Order: sequence, then structure tokens, then C-alpha cells
Amino acid sequence: MAWSSASHPDRLLLTRQFPIGPDRLPEFEPIMQAANRIWNSCVWHSREIREKENRWPNEGELKAKFKFFKVWKELHSQSAQAVVEEYFEAVSGYRKHRENGHEDMRPPDFKPKKHLRTVTWKKQGFDVRPDGLGLKRSRGKDPVSVPLPAGWNVIVLPDGRSVTGTPVEVKVKAIVRRRKVENLILHVTFDFGVVPVRPEAGPVAAYDYNAAMLARATSAGVLDLFVGRELLAQIQYRNKVLAEFQAKLSRLREGSRRRRRLQAAKGRVLEKLDRRIRHMEHALTKALAELDRKEGIAVAVLGDLTGLRRSAGTGKKGKKANQKINQMAYDRLGSQQGYKNLMRGIRTIFLPEKYTSSTCYACGHHHPASRRRRGHWECERCGFSLQADLNGAGNLLKRRLTGDRIDLPAPVPVRVIRHWRWDRRHNRFVHVSSRAGA
Ligand SMILES: [Zn+2]
Repeated sequence: MAWSSASHPDRLLLTRQFPIGPDRLPEFEPIMQAANRIWNSCVWHSREIREKENRWPNEGELKAKFKFFKVWKELHSQSAQAVVEEYFEAVSGYRKHRENGHEDMRPPDFKPKKHLRTVTWKKQGFDVRPDGLGLKRSRGKDPVSVPLPAGWNVIVLPDGRSVTGTPVEVKVKAIVRRRKVENLILHVTFDFGVVPVRPEAGPVAAYDYNAAMLARATSAGVLDLFVGRELLAQIQYRNKVLAEFQAKLSRLREGSRRRRRLQAAKGRVLEKLDRRIRHMEHALTKALAELDRKEGIAVAVLGDLTGLRRSAGTGKKGKKANQKINQMAYDRLGSQQGYKNLMRGIRTIFLPEKYTSSTCYACGHHHPASRRRRGHWECERCGFSLQADLNGAGNLLKRRLTGDRIDLPAPVPVRVIRHWRWDRRHNRFVHVSSRAGA
């Protein structure tokens, strides 16, 4: 699943997966291996240019060069170009990490010769048929036809309406376990068009994501505190397991049989843990979107952490901020909440989190020193006291309601504070207690 506001803030883009079975491998294997050869050519040429000219080549340069390669002709031209684009995305991710001081990061590397690379088909690369898709190859080669089940391009929204999507991108991925192809999965991204949303002047809910706490503040004067230790615990456990594998791997010889076996085990274990984390994230963001829908929220405000993330690498924000950024996938949680909201007619916007944790929600006084006293905001000017994350969420709400005037007094008084905890068995939040606001 994905959600994009690139062309229109209320455009709904979702990705669905369709298993197409391992018996289709003979048709896809040559295409996937051709894509793998293009990837390896990217690695090879980049290395050469870096050694000779001490620079990274650019995307256009490599595309122009490979156009005359034989493997390029196995694929639809857009699919071949997509491999080069993916390579450069990986390169820029690597360079960003290096700039942020992650010295252990390695540049995108060669893949084994037989590796089955995921192949992308862009819009001109496939035909939409009533019962499925025709995935094109280069000119003169027959397309690969993939039949799909009835209703493959239809989703039912939470209000019961069905909408038909237009496929905009298709990927084919191989699921390999113990060197055996278990399945081929088709990932189809659909454009479901611009979804009607509630009027922008309607009720607002602002969210402050923190490691173990999630705070919400609404324009009805409701403050919610969600305790989400389970998700954080899962993420920390996953990182611990990963670190243990890395430590063991570093002691084994490159290319040795034991190392390869351990590498495969690492992949299996992490996949399982990641699946559990994803599942929890989905349940969590769905619960939030449902709460907004029930309370008639029109606009959900999330903190934009881009600025914070950038300074995390420079050490400006200190160790604590670094940890916060590294552990939770805020981007992913934000985009999940975004499309789940949109399916319910709620628009999601991002506003800067700057000063939200160092300003008093009640009076607007900015005072970094009073931001946390045992997890509480205690204003030195007006005496207002509130759980610190709730104060932060309140300020994000204020930013929306006052047009970025975080220094103003609270636009709505605190009427009620509710506490929720995560019910692991039923994957939902349960209301623990409420109390009247200060
Ligand atoms: Zn105050």
C-alpha cells in the first residue's frame, strides 16, 4: 500500500499484491535476470568511472550507454530504464548516509549472476485487459499475459462504496527461500482518483508520534494519550536480533559456506519480525483513522520531522533524538495514516514540529528548560501542567488553528484527557480512563 500527494493532495494511490505462482517462472526468469545484468552493469561502470575520474556517473549517461547492450533488448525500454533509476536511488541513499556520518554503509553492490531482480513496468509498459494485464517486453517480443481474479482493480471504501482503479505501475517480485523460488508476486499500484474529503474548515486532530507514546489533540478540546510500548518493544527486539547476526557474520570469512547459511537465516528471521512489525503498524494507524472518522475529523495534522531528521546526523539534537529517529519508521506510519484517512474522507497535512515541545499550550510561552519534568510540561509563566507529549500535540493543533502562531494562548481549552492502551489480542486500543482537563 502507498499513498502519494505528488499530483493532488486527495489522490488515492494504493498497491495490491497478487501471487501468480512459481510455475510462471520460465517466462519471468529471463526478464528478471536481464534486469539483474543491467544492475550489475550499473555497478561496474560506476566503479570504473569513480576510479578513473573520481566522480559518480549520472543517470542519463548510463542509460545512453546501455541502450546498445543486448540485455537492454530483453526488457521493455521503460523497464530497463527503471533499473538504472533504482540503482541511482540506491546510490543517493548511500551517499546521504555517508554524509550523515554512517561510515559502515557500503555502496550498492553486484548481485549474483542468477539473482532474480524485481522488474518494474511503467504505464506504457503494460496493457490493461478486462481479465488481467499484458506485460510488454521489447519490440518484436510477445508480452507476458497475467490473468487476474475478478474485481482485481476494485476496492471497497470503509463507507461501503466501490471504486475502480487504473493501474499505473506493475512490479514482479520473486519470493526465494532456501534457493528455491516459492512464488512470484505481482505488485500493482492503482490510481483510484481524487477522493472527496470533508470540508477543510471542519474539526482537526493533531498527532505527536513519540517512541512509546502517541499523543492526540483535537479542536473539540479532547486530548488522547496512547501507550504503544508493544510496537517499540518489537522494533527494539528486531534491532537487537539484527545486531547479533551482524556480529556473528563479521567473524566469518567472506564467501564461506557458513557465512552464506547464516546470511540466509538472517533474512528469514528478519522477514518474520518485519512482518509482525508491519502488521502492528497497520493495526495502529487503522485504529487512529477510525477514531478520526467516528469523531467527524476533517483534517489530521502530523508532525513533519524532516528538519529534525536532518540535524539528527550532525549530532545537534543529541543522542535522544537520534534514537527516536532511528527506531520508529515515522515516514511509514505517516503515509499509512495518510491513505487510511483519505479512504475515510479525511485529509492529512504535515506541519513543522519545531518548538511544539518547548512552548506552553495554554499561554504560548516559549521556554525550552521547562519542557520535561518527569515527562511533564510545567509552565514557569502560567503554571499550566500537562503530560509533555500532549502539550506537544496541543501545540501542533494550535499551529493549524491559528495559522502558525504557536506563541498565542490555547485556541480551545482542554475539556477531557483520555488514556488508551493497546490490546494485543484484539489489535485495537482500549479506553483506560478519562479525566476532566485543567
Ligand atoms: Zn504557560
